[in-house]
Order: sequence, then structure tokens, then C-alpha cells
Amino acid sequence: MKNKSSIIHIIGAGISGLIAARVLENYGYKPTIIEGSYSVGGRVKSDLVEGYTLDRGFQVLLTSYPAAKKYINFETLKLQKLLPGAVIFKKGKSQTIGDPLRSFSLLFPTLFSSIGTFSDKIKILKLNILLNKKRIDTIFKEDEKTTLQYLIDFGFSEAIIQLFFKPFFSGIFLEPNLDTSSRMFEFIYKMFGEGLAVLPKDGIQAISNQLKDNLKNTKILLNSKVESVKNKLIILKDGTEIESDFTIIATEASPLVTNLKNQENIWKTCDTLYFETSKRIISRPLIGLISEENSLINNLFYHTSVKTTTKGDHELLSVTVVKKHQLNEKDLIKKIREELLQLCNISDAKFLKRYQIKKALPKLSNLQYEISSTETKLTSSLFLAGDQLLNGSLNAAIISGERAAMGVIGTLQEGLIVDELSS
Ligand SMILES: Cc1cc2nc3c(=O)[nH]c(=O)nc-3n(C[C@H](O)[C@H](O)[C@H](O)COP(=O)(O)OP(=O)(O)OC[C@H]3O[C@@H](n4cnc5c(N)ncnc54)[C@H](O)[C@@H]3O)c2cc1C
Repeated sequence: MKNKSSIIHIIGAGISGLIAARVLENYGYKPTIIEGSYSVGGRVKSDLVEGYTLDRGFQVLLTSYPAAKKYINFETLKLQKLLPGAVIFKKGKSQTIGDPLRSFSLLFPTLFSSIGTFSDKIKILKLNILLNKKRIDTIFKEDEKTTLQYLIDFGFSEAIIQLFFKPFFSGIFLEPNLDTSSRMFEFIYKMFGEGLAVLPKDGIQAISNQLKDNLKNTKILLNSKVESVKNKLIILKDGTEIESDFTIIATEASPLVTNLKNQENIWKTCDTLYFETSKRIISRPLIGLISEENSLINNLFYHTSVKTTTKGDHELLSVTVVKKHQLNEKDLIKKIREELLQLCNISDAKFLKRYQIKKALPKLSNLQYEISSTETKLTSSLFLAGDQLLNGSLNAAIISGERAAMGVIGTLQEGLIVDELSS
């Protein structure tokens, strides 16, 4: 093997950057990660507040993600399973759907047997069979339409779309109208059908920490924000210049590279607010969905309904808002507490913290599942990674990091083009 002494930098210690470092290490390289914030994880971080572990935005790992299976050790994460179902709140009443004793693939038939029309039931079975058989690469070659249009074209009733599909998938896509590509809908639906939604016992950041702890030959520079990248030179905000033979930009590259300045990503935003409550109104680990046209709350979850390492004195509730609003924090909290009371009968929600996530998920068209290692190459020494290259998911972040690292390795080892993961 050649050029093991090459200086390789990775900008960003999110999931994609950490994976890039892992793959480079696997091939004998010793990269340096330059991270602007005080810790690794990027969008996959947690904080300890009043004894509770708060994830920065409610998110789950899907155990069926092919890339996650490859790079994440599920065993040591002490994964806690969410039940395959949901509690739907409508007009102050709630209805639990899904069978907790069965797998998620059985959720949808169960769901529709209680609230769908007969035609919806047939269609859900059809969709399960279709997506079970459909390969991921086929899904990502399909013509795109909005998820809403996809559901309408599939023949689902307006009622089932409003009651279930809208709040459930809005909580995943982080946008209220199901404008997200039908490719993402088919992919996520398939993933839910083939695995479970889980949360690490120590909070979502345990995933990032595991990836960091597995790195043995990587240097991580924290609190080091990069200002710009010019082929073989990285310039930090504080003016420090760092020479680099190869650089992987594992975050949005447009602010850093001059000729990409007009190619900025558009991002979806969301708010996650945490509350402490004296009791849970959803006792089991089920996601709560608000099926009200005009409510700000989209979904909620009691993090204390699964085992957590840290525990405050009471119950921990997260509330996710995906609709655009102009409320300041005080008015937002007031509105959410009013809705919790009116829609869910939660009267004692004590506010803990709000995360306003301005760059939660990339807003993309022509969604892709994967990218070849050569496609990650921007110039002879610059490579790109990050979920914004493919689709907004942990799975995509992992694949992009792997491919960028393979791009560097392939360049260094003269034409070795290996794409490790295939769908
Ligand atoms: C609220 C929310 C819910 C989500 N839900 C899910 C879910 O349920 N399932 C799922 O699969 N995915 C979910 N996701 C998406 C998932 O978290 C992301 O796809 C993934 O974390 C992206 O990783 P990344 O490495 O591409 O980018 P990031 O995590 O954004 O990492 C980029 C890193 O680069 C650093 N950086 C940026 N600029 C600079 C600079 N100039 N200098 C130095 N460092 C810099 C940042 O600080 C950051 O650490 C969710 C995301 C959010 C926010």
C-alpha cells in the first residue's frame, strides 16, 4: 500500500465524518477530523438537563438500515424498542393502533382494521407486499412525486391520509405537507416494515460516541471551525492554516468552497420541546400523533416510556413541531402547553428546553440511496460527504462517509475503486 503518510482531513464530526474516519482507519490511514463545535455527533447529540437526557430533536434509529447494520454495533447501544404502533389524538380523544406483540409489518393491517375503510385495508396489504419485494435500488430509480400524491394515486382515502399518514410521515420528513419524495416514503416504509425503531438507553448521542470511541488512529480537533478550503489548504475561522493532501468535507460544502458558493442547500427546520410531566398519558413506548389540521404539535413521545440511563424525578415528554410559525419562544411554549391540554389532556407540562433546529434535514429532489466513491470527488484533493448528497437519514450519512473515504483511498491507491456497500 502506498502513501500511508498522506495528510487527510475530514471536516465535520457528524455521523458521515466519523464513518469516513473509520473507513480510512480500516485501510491503515490516520486522518484528522476538524469539528467546529465542542463535541462529535453533529445532528446526533444529546444533553443532560435536570437529570434527563434530551436528544437534540426526536429521532430514532431503524434497525433495518443496511448501512447502520454494517457500521453500528447494536449490542453495546442497549437499544430500547419503540412499539410498532401509534396513539392518534383527534378532537380530544385518543385511539391506540398496532399490536405491540407483533412486528411493525403487522402494524398497518391492524391499523386499518380499526380506522381504515375496507378499501384502505386492501391497499395497505398491497403496499406491504409491493415494498417488501421491491429492492432499495429499484425504489431510488422510480419517478418521483410527492408522498401525498403517491398516497392519493395509490387510492388511500382522504381520512386515512389525514389521520395517520400525514402526522406519522411528517414527523419523519420534518415537513407538514408530505411534499417529500415518494422514493423516501417507499424507502422509510420498507425500513419500518423490516425492522424496529429504537433508541439507545443513553440517548441518541450514544451512536456518535460509539463511532468516536471505535476510532483508534484518528485525531479529533474540536472547537475548530473551518472558514474555507482551497484544494490543499484548510483555513480555520481563527486564521490558522492547515495543509492537507486530501480533505473530505463531511458537511455542507457550499459555504467553504469558493466555486460552490451559489449551490447552497435548502434545509427543513423543526422545533423539539421537552417537558416534564407527573404521569404518562401514553404508558407504553408508542409515538403520539396529533391528527388536527390546525395544531402546531405534530407528534410526541415519552422518553421515559423506554429504559433510560439517566432519570429525572418524573416523566420526560418531547413534542415535535414541523409547521412553520413565527412565534417567539415564550409564545410557542404557551401555545404548545395549551394544545397539550386541549388535545391530549396533559395539564401539568413543565417546560424544560427547546431545540430550534434550523438545519434539520436537507430539502432535496432527485433523492439517491447511494453514491459511487468517484462521484464524491469534487477536485483532485477534495471529497464530499454528508446526508445532503443523498437523502436525509442516518443511513445516507453513513453511506456518504464510507464512499468519500473510499474515494480518497481509491485515489491514493491508484485506481482502487471499491464501493464496499451495495444495497
Ligand atoms: C430533529 C431531527 C430528526 C431526525 N430524525 C431522524 C430519524 O428518525 N432517522 C434518521 O435516520 N435520521 C434522522 N435525522 C437525520 C440524521 O440525524 C442526519 O441525516 C445525520 O445525522 C446527518 O449526519 P451528517 O454527518 O451528514 O451531518 P451533520 O450531523 O450535520 O454533521 C456535520 C458536522 O460538521 C460540523 N461542521 C459544520 N460546518 C463546519 C465547519 N465550517 N467547520 C468545522 N465543522 C463544521 C458540524 O458541527 C457537524 O458536527 C434527523 C435529524 C434531525 C435534526
